[in-house]
Amino acid sequence: MPSTFEYKWDTPKYKGQTSFNTGLFIGGQFVDGSRGTTIDVINPTTGKLITTISEGTEEDVNAAVAAAQKAFDTVWGLKVGGLERSQHLWNLAQAMERHKDELAALDSLDNDERKLIYTRHEPIGVVGQIIPWNFPLLMWAWKIAPALATGNTIVLKPSEVTPLSAIRMCGIIKEAGIPDGVVNIVTGYGHTVGAAISSHMKIDKVAFTGSTLVGRKVMEAAAKSNLKTVTLELGGKSPNIIYDDADLEQAVNWAAHGIFWNHGQACCAGSRIFVQAGIYDQFMEKFVAKARSIKLGDPFGADTEQGPQVSQIQYDRIMGYINSGKEQGATVVTGGDRNGSEGYFINPTIFTDVKPNMKIVKEEIFGPVGVVIKFTDEDDVIRQANDTVYGLAAAVFTQNINRAIETAHRLQAGTAWINCVNQVHAQVPFGGYKQSGIGREMGEYALSHYTNVKAVHINLQHKK
Ligand code: NAD
Repeated sequence: MPSTFEYKWDTPKYKGQTSFNTGLFIGGQFVDGSRGTTIDVINPTTGKLITTISEGTEEDVNAAVAAAQKAFDTVWGLKVGGLERSQHLWNLAQAMERHKDELAALDSLDNDERKLIYTRHEPIGVVGQIIPWNFPLLMWAWKIAPALATGNTIVLKPSEVTPLSAIRMCGIIKEAGIPDGVVNIVTGYGHTVGAAISSHMKIDKVAFTGSTLVGRKVMEAAAKSNLKTVTLELGGKSPNIIYDDADLEQAVNWAAHGIFWNHGQACCAGSRIFVQAGIYDQFMEKFVAKARSIKLGDPFGADTEQGPQVSQIQYDRIMGYINSGKEQGATVVTGGDRNGSEGYFINPTIFTDVKPNMKIVKEEIFGPVGVVIKFTDEDDVIRQANDTVYGLAAAVFTQNINRAIETAHRLQAGTAWINCVNQVHAQVPFGGYKQSGIGREMGEYALSHYTNVKAVHINLQHKK
């Protein structure tokens, strides 16, 4: 059993005895550390031992995380409403009030009683921004607008693959009369310009959109340099759930839009399509016909629905994934090959007979390649949909509003669409759970990432 701390307070402010357990507190129980060792707590005034506390280990952290996860899933998190949580917090505040002398003695805290406090949101200063190639001007706008609105100046690097609209915008910025130096665009490669921005000692915030792999490098560089604030908009492997009571025509159209829009080069692409068993065969028949009807061609063509992939590298990457799907035993129902003999066109591709551990199910392909998975019921599909390191977006199709909302709430994703996909709105936050990112783009949430918050305390008592 963990040891107990007993102390007889001998101060004019608080006289009395206090006693409490000094073990680790995991799952509501006091326990010894797994190694059974302790850490001495020394009184700095006397240099003497006050007590010993249990020394935790990595194993103890694992146990604590498991206990916290279990509580999150069963008695806290989404299981209880705000009212119930507020009651718990109220009870805690009351209990602290009852023990306030003891707590004050432990921490020796003093309080000002009469003061005026307010907060100020101030611009951060020079911010760095790094954007990808898949929506060049859109990404530029999402980054530039909140940074400028909150008073920051910018050093932005567009993707080396699609820099032209960002460069053209420099002239348009001058035309609009934005003062010189407020927006600066540095074209170049990621490992030089991108890395220089992420590690720069005079850039206090970096906003990055791109792959999870590079996002990790940006965060690492920020941590190793000046601990600049980092926001990341990263990859996804978004689930699209189609229940058997969905409007089938609509679900097929949206599912095709979800995975084939922008040739699949969308971070929120609905690349894992879950279809309930009752409508699976009908859905597949219509979905395959829809995929086969998509017109590939010149992006400037008036009736073109799908253009080429952005580069040879991306083309090779996507074909690599398609081949891995075939090798790992999945079935190509349609597509799976090149379209034409010039350029980087890939036919809309649908896989079935997939297993959870296949690369085409787990990894972001960033091309017109979707997997279709049959499911039985709500619990089954939620478990599968959330079984990913990503959490950018998710969609659900059903005509039962209760089921739609319940499912949307249970999905681990920054955006949940009901009976639609790929919708964004300037006033609504966009961003990811888990390894899909940190922070949010757009709306009030984006603005908050571009300010420092200062608390100003004014003493109205004039006396100490
Ligand atoms: P990427 O990560 O390869 O490159 C993104 C940007 O980072 C480019 O400008 C690149 O030059 C730069 N870069 C590369 N190495 C760097 C380094 N070491 N340090 C700093 N910067 C570096 O991504 P991409 O291929 O351009 O874009 C595709 C990825 O972007 C996909 O994973 C997609 O999901 C993601 N994306 C996410 C969102 C979102 O909002 N979550 C939006 C669009 C794209």
